[in-house]
Amino acid sequence: MDIWARWNKQTRKCHYDLCFALHGLARGPIERGDPVIIGRSKKLTAAGMRTFNYAWHPDCWLAQAMDHLTSIPESERVSPRGRRPVAANLEVRKRRVSLLQKRASLNHRQVKAALAGDAVRVLALEAEKQSLIPLILETGPLPKRWRVE
Ligand SMILES: [Zn+2]
Repeated sequence: MDIWARWNKQTRKCHYDLCFALHGLARGPIERGDPVIIGRSKKLTAAGMRTFNYAWHPDCWLAQAMDHLTSIPESERVSPRGRRPVAANLEVRKRRVSLLQKRASLNHRQVKAALAGDAVRVLALEAEKQSLIPLILETGPLPKRWRVE
């Protein structure tokens, strides 16, 4: 929705549901010459693209925005920065890191065996690498590089 402010050109009803509740009956429609907040949204309907216009008293618009913001539970208001840890439990995380290190070591040995032309050793190390897969799945999702095609 596009939102902007301007001076009202014609008398309009305020779009805030609680306008009367907030200000009582003394608060009438938005009069010509008053400041007004205008909202415009385009929606695709069965009949094609339609434009919807809304108008609010400036303070009603702010009240509505605050209603929306306070309706969000405090725990979901600001998301933490950075990468989320794979597992909350520290023990599980340690186990996961040790499995990653073990696999890296096997990889290294596998490359050395391959360069030495020892195909049997390469296959044995590959089997050992793949035996780690069920263990790491116990600690969280399978890392991308661990996938076996
Ligand atoms: Zn209002």
